[in-house]
Amino acid sequence: MRMYDLIRKKRDGKILAKDEIIYIIDGYTKDKIPDYQMSALLMAVYLKGMNEEETLNLTIAMADSGDKLDLSEIKGVKVDKHSTGGVGDKTSLILGPMVAACGVPVAKMSGRGLGHTGGTIDKLESFKGFTTSLSEKDFINNVNDIKLAIVGQTANLAPADKKIYALRDVTGTVENISLIASSIMSKKIASGADAIVLDVKTGDGAFMKTEEEAVKLAEEMVKIGNGAGRKTVALITDMDQPLGYAVGNALEVKEAIDTLNGKGSKELLELCYALGSQMLVLGGKALSESEARIKLQEAVKSKSALSKMAEFIKAQGGEMQAVYQTDLLPKAEIIEPVLAQTDGYISKIKCEEVGMVSLILGGGRENKESIIDLSVGVILCKKIGDKVKNGDILAYIHGNAHKKVNEAKERLLSAYTITKETTGVSKLVKQIVR
Ligand code: URA
Repeated sequence: MRMYDLIRKKRDGKILAKDEIIYIIDGYTKDKIPDYQMSALLMAVYLKGMNEEETLNLTIAMADSGDKLDLSEIKGVKVDKHSTGGVGDKTSLILGPMVAACGVPVAKMSGRGLGHTGGTIDKLESFKGFTTSLSEKDFINNVNDIKLAIVGQTANLAPADKKIYALRDVTGTVENISLIASSIMSKKIASGADAIVLDVKTGDGAFMKTEEEAVKLAEEMVKIGNGAGRKTVALITDMDQPLGYAVGNALEVKEAIDTLNGKGSKELLELCYALGSQMLVLGGKALSESEARIKLQEAVKSKSALSKMAEFIKAQGGEMQAVYQTDLLPKAEIIEPVLAQTDGYISKIKCEEVGMVSLILGGGRENKESIIDLSVGVILCKKIGDKVKNGDILAYIHGNAHKKVNEAKERLLSAYTITKETTGVSKLVKQIVR
């Protein structure tokens, strides 16, 4: 087989066979196929597309290119959740304990944040001593004992995807639904869960700007998941504004704890119930979404989900007392309000800009080596649809350096649009794709 022939085959719009896709992925991972040939193939795929079978074969070949987590020693149906990324998205911190408290084993592999979106692991490190460097044996034992464990992504998880994603990034071939779907799903499949719930974000702050695009991506991912023998469901959810009120590592942890105490934002709790219901049904702990919802509500009301979070933090070396006493979490020295400059209704909050504000305060990584400040970020006080008067507090900036706080205040103010008429709020859960 020759890469040259396969590039021409895809260029001419023909279908690549399974053994040809395996040849390409294996050869590229092992540096036998050069970047310039892989770039040409990716551009041909971008222009001519791939059918369902090619997309599944590509995903499996990428999942098989490195380490795969074997979770067979964990009892029960292991359900994973994946979000396509958003600002203020702390659902994993809430869902893990909630779902585990209802008996579904959660064995999750998570990443760190890069750029303006945060990572679950960074957020969890707000608990002093917390570690995600567990051996495979401890990871499995923790899930069997307390139903919940989170480990850091191993360097060798789907290495083909890592190499291809870096190449796509510099060759104008990122925005192809089949390539995005196979990239995300290869990592999920290599992470070993039996069932997967996807939270596909749409809106201004999401990768997929329109609901139509988000549905297409969700459909491809659901087909791949089911084709690979993992029961998969996707929710299309709104990311036209940050999720909840907190953006920033420790601030998001506090909001997650408040939510598990039944005191969080209604929309955030609602999203957790919607995603969690799917997880309980797929995990065989509820027969219907309505039964699952009742169980999840009970886990919050009885505080069993909150206790589960404390148990999980302790099991991974963290200071569990901070779950009950959130002032033990990292705190910023400077807290300053951002004030509205006019009367009206909040009609837009630029998500990416809010994420950037957290980043410039020190809460995000500009590159992989950056050290982040867990205490900084933003607490939004007003969200889309809210009425404001000139001088009202729109948000609070939490920072540790006056210069950065001043810059953050200016940028956050420009992230808000206030109009005379109300524009209404987008629906949070837009569709379910099975
Ligand atoms: N996230 C991924 O992991 N892969 C893509 O291609 C796009 C977003």
